[in-house]
Amino acid sequence: MQTQDYQALDRAHHLHPFTDFKALGEEGSRVVTHAEGVYIHDSEGNRILDGMAGLWCVNLGYGRRELVEAATAQLEQLPYYNSFFKTTHPPAVRLAERLCHLAPAHINHVFFTGSGSEANDTVLRMVRRYWALKGRPDKQWVIGRENGYHGSTVAGMSLGGMAPMHGQGGPCVPGIAHIRQPYWFGEGQAMSPEAFGRACAAALEDKILELGEDKVAAFIAEPVQGAGGAIMPPESYWPAVKAVLAKYDILLVADEVICGFGRLGEWFGSQHYGLEPDLMPIAKGLSSGYLPIGGVLVGDRVAETLVEEGGEFFHGFTYSGHPVCAAVALRNLELLEAEGVVDRVREDLGPYLAERWASLADHPIVGEARSLGLMGALELVVDKTSGQRFDKSLGAGNLCRDLCFENGLVMRSVGDTMIIAPPLVIRREDIDELVELARRALDETARRLMHAPHRQEEPTA
Ligand SMILES: *Cc1c(COP(=O)(O)O)cnc(C)c1O
Repeated sequence: MQTQDYQALDRAHHLHPFTDFKALGEEGSRVVTHAEGVYIHDSEGNRILDGMAGLWCVNLGYGRRELVEAATAQLEQLPYYNSFFKTTHPPAVRLAERLCHLAPAHINHVFFTGSGSEANDTVLRMVRRYWALKGRPDKQWVIGRENGYHGSTVAGMSLGGMAPMHGQGGPCVPGIAHIRQPYWFGEGQAMSPEAFGRACAAALEDKILELGEDKVAAFIAEPVQGAGGAIMPPESYWPAVKAVLAKYDILLVADEVICGFGRLGEWFGSQHYGLEPDLMPIAKGLSSGYLPIGGVLVGDRVAETLVEEGGEFFHGFTYSGHPVCAAVALRNLELLEAEGVVDRVREDLGPYLAERWASLADHPIVGEARSLGLMGALELVVDKTSGQRFDKSLGAGNLCRDLCFENGLVMRSVGDTMIIAPPLVIRREDIDELVELARRALDETARRLMHAPHRQEEPTA
């Protein structure tokens, strides 16, 4: 089959995630056929540097024989068995042990799921169950953040703060509230980053008092917001949030689905920020995306209550701890460890990317270039000095993304924020290429937009 054949069948039968079906049908989808290392290849023979590690998940890069072999061996040994009804199997046991060894010391249990969304569904059930068992059944509210992302099941979507998602298929799960996000470039520039970080933490306390200081079960947040736009909070943010949670005895859920497994140069993003979360949902990089698997790492405080006082927990998935997925995840963790990938991100690749990425800040349409570990963002603006955005109708971010793709780089757009999160096995010379390709796309984006008839937003007042 040729590209057009795939596109025709895709258009006829395949509804893609987070996609305007009609628009994609008219345009035709890109057909990715194979991949190796940090590159994907499409059906037209293009080789493209994958600046997004698939969807933030292919941490070890493509084409790892060891992961293929781990899957093959496990498929032959035991392709499936469940972990309901008093059974277990070696891959799930070994993966559970490994994860708890890598996690902070107070975390010693894991509940497996098939995805990050299922992990967050599990979180919601666990925190409410925990407080009910503690004799505090009124503590049921969960606070999340605007523009946070926690998945696309009904609970995941409700915990997340993506307004367009809430606008479709609601109502959301009751008992979930949201506070402002610590997005300094987008919402905080009237203050210093430090003052803004504290203001965002103060918004948490205000919300707790509004809901009732005895009524809040948990706060859920990504250490660094991923899908929202690779948003690193000001340094003042997390310490202030931790203090508020401690004051009202509220559980902290750190959604590690993106930040986990080395993205920020530590095994978990929580370790970078010194968080001590009660629960950590995980997925994506857990298996480097080779097979679907997620879970919730459960801290001692919650686990002991669920174990000692809980009786049966009426929750689980057919594929919880799936043996083949678990075997691949285990091998993935072994390789990340044996190859020193996480340390290399912290000590070498993260600082190197930071330096090279920052060089894009001088570009005429870049208002900010920020990065942490192997995650980075560029804010596109029409005017560097005022920080004014392009007119929304121009779709600057999507244009830049499309130009990147055409020029051999996957860089994602979130509105007019461009983001990257490459495989953690990227080399310095690949980072040079990535930055070079990004600059070329920025030049071309600027060239096209600066000639557009309405190049900036009209003043509203
Ligand atoms: C991707 C993501 C999820 C959802 O994971 P799925 O495997 O797509 O269900 C949850 N939380 C965060 C932070 C994510 O980035």
